[in-house]
Amino acid sequence: MSDLMSKPHVAMIGLGNMGIGMASRLLSEKFPLTVYNRSADKTRFFSDAGAAVATSPRDAASKADFVISMIADDNASRFVWFGEKGALAGVSPSAVLIECSTLTVAWALELSAAAAQLGCEFLDAPVTGSKPQAAAGQLLFLAGGTASAVEKARPVLSVLGRDVIHLGPNGSGARLKLINNFLCGVQAASLAEAISMITASGLDAEIAMSVLTNGAPGSPLVKTISARAAAQDPTVNFSLRLMAKDLSYAIQEAQRDQIPLETVAAALGIFQRAMANGLGDQDFSAVIASVRQ
Ligand code: NAP
Repeated sequence: MSDLMSKPHVAMIGLGNMGIGMASRLLSEKFPLTVYNRSADKTRFFSDAGAAVATSPRDAASKADFVISMIADDNASRFVWFGEKGALAGVSPSAVLIECSTLTVAWALELSAAAAQLGCEFLDAPVTGSKPQAAAGQLLFLAGGTASAVEKARPVLSVLGRDVIHLGPNGSGARLKLINNFLCGVQAASLAEAISMITASGLDAEIAMSVLTNGAPGSPLVKTISARAAAQDPTVNFSLRLMAKDLSYAIQEAQRDQIPLETVAAALGIFQRAMANGLGDQDFSAVIASVRQ
């Protein structure tokens, strides 16, 4: 840490729907901040607000006590951490590296091994909560790594989230996050089919949805996305493409344990059809419109 009396320097890599909110929280809590994003246009707000802007993940990481990554998928994570301009080429051994994206367990483990070779502590710490929770500092971190890395990271993560759950060694956070998201994805696909059936059958949609959302099937996920679909809210909190990615990563992961995720495979098919219909960049609640078509 640069100075015991001052806040640690944080590098935030990835300024998508989640990273923008997280970086804004760090800025508003007055952490010295360097940001990096593949597309430079998203960094302008942060340079205007006083953050340093790096032209590569390596440069972003070079002064950082904590390096946080929040990017799309395994490929993006490989791009930002590895290679000549990757963050690992710039980190100091005292830095704590925190990968918050939803990734495969295999990739989280590969990354943790590369971090260990450099002497850095590493956490896979994906999150629950979406864009509004990222902006409000109300995420929940699902952390895999050593207890000491979790405790070192807690003062920074507590600015971004409401809690950090330490699940076990590296890979544990990534694993539970995939399980969490496949449960969400299956519910969303199933809700899409329920709404399709209600519409086709001529049932009163408002009454039917009130029965479902206030009854046993009315999980927080079902309540939230049925309300968003009814309001035809075009805001993208979590893209449909990324939900399909999470379902396919969950299937890959379960295959390692010879567990066929049959409901997830069916849900993935529904999300893939929605992507083929051009809805990949819309919010994942657009799966409802896709099934209804
Ligand atoms: P997003 O809005 O789609 O942003 C994706 C970010 O990844 C952008 O910064 C993008 O850069 C970068 N990126 C994509 N491909 C890249 C590549 N090949 N090389 C370098 N950078 C690349 O995604 P998000 O919603 O913020 O989600 C980020 C992560 O959090 C994902 O793993 C997602 O599954 C997870 N997550 C999301 C939510 C949610 O509700 N949104 C909730 C929990 C977890 P550009 O700007 O240049 O495209």
